[in-house]
Amino acid sequence: MLNRLFKKKEEKKDPFVSGLYGFVIGDAFGLPIEFMNRDRLKQNPVTDMIPMGTYRFPIGTWSDDSSMIFATMDAFKKETELPKIYRQMLRNFLDWKHRGEFTPNGEMFDIEKTTEIALRRYQIQVLRDHPEHISCGMTQLSSNGNGSLMRILPVAFYLYQTDIDVMSKEAWEMVKTVSSMTHAHIYSVLGCYIYVIYVIELLKGCEKHTAYQNMQEKINQLEEYQEDLHSIYKRISTVDLATVKEEKIGSSGYIVETLEAVLWSILTTDSFSDAVVCATNLGDDTDTIGALTGALAGIIYGYEAIPEKWLNYIKKRKWVDQEIASFDQYLKQLSIETKKSEE
Ligand SMILES: [Mg+2]
Repeated sequence: MLNRLFKKKEEKKDPFVSGLYGFVIGDAFGLPIEFMNRDRLKQNPVTDMIPMGTYRFPIGTWSDDSSMIFATMDAFKKETELPKIYRQMLRNFLDWKHRGEFTPNGEMFDIEKTTEIALRRYQIQVLRDHPEHISCGMTQLSSNGNGSLMRILPVAFYLYQTDIDVMSKEAWEMVKTVSSMTHAHIYSVLGCYIYVIYVIELLKGCEKHTAYQNMQEKINQLEEYQEDLHSIYKRISTVDLATVKEEKIGSSGYIVETLEAVLWSILTTDSFSDAVVCATNLGDDTDTIGALTGALAGIIYGYEAIPEKWLNYIKKRKWVDQEIASFDQYLKQLSIETKKSEE
């Protein structure tokens, strides 16, 4: 009996695992309806994972969002020092872009515009002359798509497991560096940072509304960036998004709209499935909004709350299982090493 109890406890998946599966499911759920507008989805809501759609792929196919997450996780697992991890990330992104690594079907089939330009710039200008450089991201106002936000989740897990205070300069620099590989404008960096803070509050075990308030308190302490926060991220930094009406929530690939849509979907629903269905039925950039929402919902509601049917649909499931399990192992080891070094 005791053995059975222990076994059951062991089998319980931690929030890193449920967050990552949630991410992949949200991505695969949203992909077939990517770019569909909200009015059309209102008439025919999508409440289950479906095949075909924009790219004519089978059910459970995940896209660039998950590919970039897997490429980022792989870099953390392969290297131990941060500068090397960063360079490995960029190498992995190029392997994804040119060789179809980290994809469900062996080829890269979608890429966010700014990511495409930045990676091309990295390959042509930076890698050849300055292979030690990692900053090749775009700094224009128009380069604020959600391309770096979609791959920032592993950074939140890393910061949490290494006990690095999210309000420290070290944490800010890490988020900034990783975003700036492709998206170097302050709006993108701030968007990634807000998501990372919210994820860490959830990992600490805070209830989702409390986590949201804590995140607001934290970002309002960022004296240097108050102007940007109170113009671009005004609603996220000062308003309870849950009280905002759906018609006031955008769902484009612009990082500010994506982040608002994700947080709004989380705050206005009460289960994993409802969060993913709500997020993706907002329309437009459904895969990224679905993925980012799915990750938060996975962390909040746990692995058991993810419908098994959706887990079984995930394309290249065995490989996905291995990638997630090995990253989870890496994170556990990271925490053990951090505690040892603190003693
Ligand atoms: Mg995508």
